[in-house]
Amino acid sequence: MPEVLMTDADLDAPCGRCLTLRDLVHVGETWARVRIPNYPRQPETIAWLHRLAERVLDPVATQFGPVQITYGFASCDLIRHIPGRIDPSRDQHAGHELRRDGHMVCPRGGQAADFQVPGVCSGRVATFIAAGIAFDRIYFYGSDRPLHVSVGPEAKHTVVEMRSGRDGRRIPRVRSPDWLGGQFAPAL
Ligand SMILES: [Zn+2]
Repeated sequence: MPEVLMTDADLDAPCGRCLTLRDLVHVGETWARVRIPNYPRQPETIAWLHRLAERVLDPVATQFGPVQITYGFASCDLIRHIPGRIDPSRDQHAGHELRRDGHMVCPRGGQAADFQVPGVCSGRVATFIAAGIAFDRIYFYGSDRPLHVSVGPEAKHTVVEMRSGRDGRRIPRVRSPDWLGGQFAPAL
């Protein structure tokens, strides 16, 4: 498929019912620092950004209130500027973007975003997603931390708890989707 050549105005297109593409593209600490275009180039990336908004972000906003995106789409250009311990080959923030050698940055495909609903426990939001949405992966960092949620062709329904280790490093632990409900079900 030919690449999409975006302009800044294209980012004002709606993405789902509540957001625009810009909300998922011009967002996050690194983007705020470097303010590069960060445009998606692959049509499949744009399609999955829409699916992420329609399948996950819209239902969450309807249920809990406006969603605050903390990290969304990451182009190859943006990834180069991101400091620290990230793994673009697994984290799905690059959508279906291609490396220079023509291979996908993240072969899992789909699209991820990190977000929270201000004032709402992220465990409750994760429980809601796990119970009724065809998600791919949820990384849960804590009740007051943004969730990482992806949709993708594999739709694996994998929940990973990212526990804080003693040295501050995150230790991933795969949990059953039921684990969320057991931890965060609303009190009766
Ligand atoms: Zn993430």
